[in-house]
Amino acid sequence: MIKVVKFGGSSLASAEQFRKVADIIHAEDARRYVVPSAPGKRFSADTKVTDMLYACYDLAAKGKDFSEAFAKITERYTSIIDELGLDLDMTEEFNTVKACFIGKAGRDYAASRGEYLNGIVLAKYLGYEFVDAADVIFFKDSGEFDAERTQKAVRERLTGVEKAVVPGFYGSMPNDTIKTFSRGGSDITGSIVAAAVGADIYENWTDVSGFLISDPRIVKDPLPIHTITYKELRELSYMGAGVLHEDAIFPVRKAGIPINIKNTNAPLDPGTMIVESTSQKPQFTITGIAGKKGFTVVNIEKDMMNSELGFGRRVLEVFEKNGISFEHMPSGIDTMSIVVHQTEFEPKEQEILSGLHRNVHPDSIDIETDLALIAVVGRAMKSARGTAGRIFAALAHAHINVKMIDQGSSELNIIIGVEEKDFEAAIKSIYEIFVVHQL
Ligand code: ASP
Repeated sequence: MIKVVKFGGSSLASAEQFRKVADIIHAEDARRYVVPSAPGKRFSADTKVTDMLYACYDLAAKGKDFSEAFAKITERYTSIIDELGLDLDMTEEFNTVKACFIGKAGRDYAASRGEYLNGIVLAKYLGYEFVDAADVIFFKDSGEFDAERTQKAVRERLTGVEKAVVPGFYGSMPNDTIKTFSRGGSDITGSIVAAAVGADIYENWTDVSGFLISDPRIVKDPLPIHTITYKELRELSYMGAGVLHEDAIFPVRKAGIPINIKNTNAPLDPGTMIVESTSQKPQFTITGIAGKKGFTVVNIEKDMMNSELGFGRRVLEVFEKNGISFEHMPSGIDTMSIVVHQTEFEPKEQEILSGLHRNVHPDSIDIETDLALIAVVGRAMKSARGTAGRIFAALAHAHINVKMIDQGSSELNIIIGVEEKDFEAAIKSIYEIFVVHQL
């Protein structure tokens, strides 16, 4: 049994957190490959080491004095090393990083040092081998992740290595410079390593006990999701449910490896299992609710548009030409609505309106802004009758006007559009009817 275990920044923010992490790793022999993030926040007003590195490098790049900012970063590491009583002198490593800052090695290089240095400390503390991600994680010249080369390199490097620490977040470009994934990218490294070594499970340790059915800032103490499929997770993450980096799903999913989201501060909590498919009956008809604000709907009306060949294509062409991708497209017989991101649409508004007039000669165009979209997601919806009816009953009861409905043909989700001012109340009322009333 092989487990790849990734620990997020808050799990490694202090010596106390390092101790919890080591206890978790040592509790199971299968936890052989460890992917750490950089030290994160110790308290809510604290700064993540990654952000400190970016800020420090920006000073260096402008030729300003960055020694004070740099000392604050090294202090984060030395305090962990000292408190853990490690026999580890990082002076040389720090000096190399400093010299590379002066030599303007780049922002990605700078940010990657958060994980690199933390990996060295953690490897020492665990007594594991340290494997630099720069030697095994590769990008192509285009900046795209090089899956093939990486998989081969990770496999070769880790064959025969019983236990190792591979820092997250970065890899090498073909010219040997360092490149990082986007923010939160250590999740991706963990997934890549898990797929490459053929892990049985990818454990992603963070500071929450898995995914919650809804956003805790909106619903008080929402229940956790025990099991979620990759498809459901995609729908929810797309609508803004955080915890795991969106791109972290692909490597393990392709290899059929489940992800278990776990809480470093409550290791006995089961967390959330993310799986390809499951026969496990979900506890509720819905698996999760997520949503986003900031959408605009462009409603186009024209009598008989339904029978006008190529109408839809000509409408979408206008959006495409203006570089705007659409989110949803509910339509009626003589109406068609295009839902787009407000911030993308606004600067192009007049071009799009004139383009539509030219392309399809509509009877009228009406624009509504400040729309919020809510995705109600659940694999059980397919076999449950009346799900949409229950959603609308809940919203009507809460005096919320539904502006748009869109149900995908997969019957995995129902998307509802409401005015932004009704967003929170709408989510609460859906949670109530499907979760609270079912307990
Ligand atoms: N340290 C990086 C960040 O803060 C990557 C990560 O934590 O996954 O974005």
